Amino acid sequence: MIISMALHATREQIDQVRERIQELGYKVHSIQGEERVVIGAVGVGDVTRCLEQIEAMPGVESAVRISAPYKFVSREFRSVRTRIRVNGIEIGGGEFAVIAGPGSVESESQILETAEAVAKAGAKMLRGGAYKARTSPYDFQGMEEEGLKLLRKAKEATGLAILTEVMSDSDVDLVAEYADILQIGARNMQNFSLLKALGRTTRPILLKRGMSSTIRELLMSAEYIVAHGNPNVLLCERGIRTFETATRNTCDLAAVALLSELTHLPVMVDPSHATGRRSLVPPVAKAAVAIGADGLLIEVHPNPEKAYSDGAQSLSIPQFERLMQDLGPHIRLWEQTRLAEGSSAV
Ligand code: PEP
Ligand code: MN
Repeated sequence: MIISMALHATREQIDQVRERIQELGYKVHSIQGEERVVIGAVGVGDVTRCLEQIEAMPGVESAVRISAPYKFVSREFRSVRTRIRVNGIEIGGGEFAVIAGPGSVESESQILETAEAVAKAGAKMLRGGAYKARTSPYDFQGMEEEGLKLLRKAKEATGLAILTEVMSDSDVDLVAEYADILQIGARNMQNFSLLKALGRTTRPILLKRGMSSTIRELLMSAEYIVAHGNPNVLLCERGIRTFETATRNTCDLAAVALLSELTHLPVMVDPSHATGRRSLVPPVAKAAVAIGADGLLIEVHPNPEKAYSDGAQSLSIPQFERLMQDLGPHIRLWEQTRLAEGSSAV
């Protein structure tokens, strides 16, 4: 059940509702939205009786039953798309967001050169890993806090917001000081102590789909973050592992369309990790725009052959500029579709 409190509900009314839900045998998860408090009640019991009783309490606007296992992130809970505002841009609304940058932050000149180039080409945010989740312990593990400082310099130089990965719950506060959006990598999608810690930060979270995770598991992980207090979650399809080995992963584009039926959260696509091959990034990026993704995460490096990580899937700067030009007409069509959707929803 989800209980929406009225706009001007008092603290006392909210506490009374929480207590009553607990008396009825349910567990309470509440989130403080931008405008109102919303309370989730999870458990088994006489739902109809509980709904009727709660709805009659002072300060309650509505109480509804949600059948999906994920509650706060479901479309049943919220029929309109969630818009996430970062640094003057809005993801999930009428603007298509391209986030670009290297797999890893490697040096000041590398990140500054990339940031300036991607900003000029029209990217809205800079990506770059300072903490890297690598399969081999002998591979480059990232510059850690030094890398975060370089990302800050790149932000100061270009005005681009920063997206960077956090791998451990003990690093959330530190990374959140530097990042505008915290990325959770595929390998950490079900790191539940990390997901709970993310619930306690106010920074938006970009949650990547685990390489062997179902859509439902992805939504359940998003639910962890929201149920623990942070409603600003973006999802990211980055390819899943299948029997196919010709591409690094198999890009599940249908998941993007399905997710926008199942959830109100924005959905991004990462064609770099989804394919592992630079030549496939532009066509998959176009397909992601066409299928209605909210934005793209693209790896770009000034010198991909020398990249410390993921060079084979990174675009060079001229290749990224070309892609941004080619995406132009696709994005304009996307904007028209969003506009039409907005006016038909009114
Ligand atoms: C990344 O974006 O740098 C990354 C490691 O991606 P993923 O977690 O999707 O493999
Ligand atoms: Mn990478």
